Amino acid sequence: MSGRLEIAIAGAGVGGLAAATLLARLGHAVTVFERFETSRPVGSGLMIQPTGLAALSVLGLRDELTALGARLTHLRGSTVSGTTIFDVAYEDLAPGLHALGVHRAALHGVLWRAFARSGADFRGGAGVSGTRPLAGGRVQLVLEGGGQAGPFDLVIDATGARSALRGVVDPGPVRPFAFGAVWASVPSIGLDPHALTQRYVAAHTMIGHLPAGRIEPDGPELTAFFWSLKTAELPQWRAGFEAWRATVARLWPQMAPVVAGFAGPDDLLPASYQHFTARQPYRGPVVLLGDSTHCTSPQLGQGANNALLDACALAAGLSATGTLEEGLAAYARMRRPHVRFYQLASALMTPVFQGDGWLLPWGRDLVFDKLKIVPWLRHEMVRTLSGLKTGPLAHAAPELLACTEQLRRLPAPADS
Ligand SMILES: Cc1cc2nc3c(=O)[nH]c(=O)nc-3n(C[C@H](O)[C@H](O)[C@H](O)COP(=O)(O)OP(=O)(O)OC[C@H]3O[C@@H](n4cnc5c(N)ncnc54)[C@H](O)[C@@H]3O)c2cc1C
Repeated sequence: MSGRLEIAIAGAGVGGLAAATLLARLGHAVTVFERFETSRPVGSGLMIQPTGLAALSVLGLRDELTALGARLTHLRGSTVSGTTIFDVAYEDLAPGLHALGVHRAALHGVLWRAFARSGADFRGGAGVSGTRPLAGGRVQLVLEGGGQAGPFDLVIDATGARSALRGVVDPGPVRPFAFGAVWASVPSIGLDPHALTQRYVAAHTMIGHLPAGRIEPDGPELTAFFWSLKTAELPQWRAGFEAWRATVARLWPQMAPVVAGFAGPDDLLPASYQHFTARQPYRGPVVLLGDSTHCTSPQLGQGANNALLDACALAAGLSATGTLEEGLAAYARMRRPHVRFYQLASALMTPVFQGDGWLLPWGRDLVFDKLKIVPWLRHEMVRTLSGLKTGPLAHAAPELLACTEQLRRLPAPADS
């Protein structure tokens, strides 16, 4: 688009900061409204897949995050009795292909510094509760506590899985998952430093270890530890903390020093998951991005990556087309096949790895790892984990999904 849009973004998380940075670099007037006074990350570690790395390249941030994160070459899962469930190597698909284990604060810090240089504005302590349409197609933001802001040409909702604005666009149902997890960041114990490693008992018990690199260049090396837990059983877990500690040490003895280091249940952060997919990510001048338009369980580790891809596609859509409506339609079109595949795949995979049933995990333990004997299936597994799938039989390169070519001429960051 040639005109300068006045854009409000609700939410300064992964997708909100990336979109704000790209759109400000394209010359739009961008203001980010965040509920917290200062923008801050919540949570522990996450995996940046090849798709997320391509999006970070578009933003000019890949090297900065790579310097902080842990290079991940494998994903390994086994039962506590030693049966391999999966052992996937990224390099099976292409030499050098890898993911990055990062601490959320590291990802947030890198995105925040780019945002701060982009010329976009930030309003902290400004929770958004709704929108108010105005004559002429513009829109105002309604703030928590009753204030208003705007008018704006475009409102981007990047308020995450518990979106404040998605109902304006799509009132479709939000389905909570029974299982969530408790997470903690702990000093690295040096276990398998290049792999996400998980241990299972059927699908009702899962312990995970994700190397997460550093938050600051001179900070300590960290690991994300997680334990799968039904959201409704959080109070019992808290009450039985000592017994739980002993259970973890018994099921996975290498984790004994990790759980011994927790002072109590407050050292771990609970996370619950829900599933929602918008049929169309925009209505009028309000558009959904990231978890707000597609949230699910992090079983396939794609959510932050997909929020980054959304930001790239929205910036590419708005930069390539004549009208706002055309730009939003282009964004929806670019993202649709990829989002549909991962929403469906995550919904199908979740009960195989987090659930009460025995049949699915029994079948999983029997055949899952053996599938990779077939080269095509092995490649499909890596493609799926890498975030490259756009349909059951289709895939795309990370650079295509990140709109690298369309955003090639994006003005460079102010300090580079
Ligand atoms: C336990 C766990 C593990 C995960 N592991 C992975 C992984 O390995 N890989 C991966 O890619 N993804 C992972 N994810 C998913 C990933 O965290 C999300 O998909 C990603 O953060 C979504 O980005 P977002 O920008 O849409 O929302 P968020 O990053 O959640 O940001 C939302 C922002 O909006 C703000 N906000 C909320 N409400 C309002 C409001 N009303 N007004 C103003 N501001 C508001 C919040 O404070 C926050 O700053 C995981 C998620 C969880 C819970």
